[in-house]
Amino acid sequence: MQKVYEIAQLQALREKMQGSVGFVPTMGALHAGHLSLIRRAREENDHVIVSIFVNPTQFLEGEDFESYPRKEEADSEICRRAGIDLLFFPHAEALYEKDELRILAPAIRGYILEGEKRPGHFDGVLQVVMKLFNLTRPTRAYFGKKDAQQLALISQMVRNYFLPTEIVACEIVRDEKGLALSSRNAYLSDEEKQRALALSRALRLASERIGAGERDARKIEAVMEEALSETDKIDYAVAVRRDFQAIDEIEIGNTILLVAAWVGKTRLIDNLWL
Ligand code: AMP
Repeated sequence: MQKVYEIAQLQALREKMQGSVGFVPTMGALHAGHLSLIRRAREENDHVIVSIFVNPTQFLEGEDFESYPRKEEADSEICRRAGIDLLFFPHAEALYEKDELRILAPAIRGYILEGEKRPGHFDGVLQVVMKLFNLTRPTRAYFGKKDAQQLALISQMVRNYFLPTEIVACEIVRDEKGLALSSRNAYLSDEEKQRALALSRALRLASERIGAGERDARKIEAVMEEALSETDKIDYAVAVRRDFQAIDEIEIGNTILLVAAWVGKTRLIDNLWL
C-alpha cells in the first residue's frame, strides 16, 4: 500500500493503474462499516483507493469539525491489512482555493431532513466528492446506505454531470445490539450508548408495524417518535420515498424510514430501507 498526502503524487500513481479502480471516500476513524465498503471495493476492482479527509466545507459553524476523531496511524494499518493499493490523505489547503466555484445541492432534496438541519452540508459534500472523483477517476465508488440522503445526492450528481463512475450502495453495518456504527459513536458514554439504541429500535418497531399491515406513513412516524422519546432531542423521524419525495402511504420496495436524534451532545442518524 502506498500512502500519499500530495495531489500530484496521487495523480501520478492513479495514472499507472490499469483496469478498474474502486474508490472509498471517508473521514477516517475507520470502523467495520467503512471496512465493509473497502472489502467490497477490493473484491470488485483491480485497484482500490481510499481517501481520508475531514472535509471542513461540509461542517457547519459550531459543529464538531475540530473534535472529529483523527486516527491516521490506526486507519493506515486497517487499510494496509485490507489490501488496498493507495491511501490518500489530502490537505485542505491543497484541495481548496479561497473563492471557489460551488456545486449546490438540489433546491428541494438537498435542503430537507439532513439538509434542513444542516444547511449547506450537502453543498460541501458534493464539492469534495466531485474533487475526489476527478482526482481518483474511479470505475466504482462505494457509499454506505447509513448516509441515505448523501447517497441519493451523490447518485444525482453523477447523473446530472454525466460522471463515468458507478455508485455502489452498501448495507449498514451495526454492532451486536443494533447500533449503526459511526465514527461519532466514540463521543458516547456507556449510558448514552444504551439510549442511542432507541434509533435502531424505532426503525425495528416501525418495520414490525408495517409487517403487521400498517401503511399509513404518519402512524409509522408516530411509532418512531414514541420510541425516540429516550433520546434528548428528535431532529426527524420520517418515511419518504427512495427518491426522498414525501409520502402518505408506505410502499414496500420504495420507502426509506429515516431518524435523526441527539443523545447528549452527539447527533446520530439511522435508517431502514423497505
Ligand atoms: P464517513 O467516514 O462517516 O464520512 O463515512 C464514509 C463512508 O462510510 C460513507 O459512505 C458512509 O455512508 C459509510 N459508512 C459509515 N458508517 C457506516 C456503517 N455503519 N455501515 C455502512 N457504511 C457506513
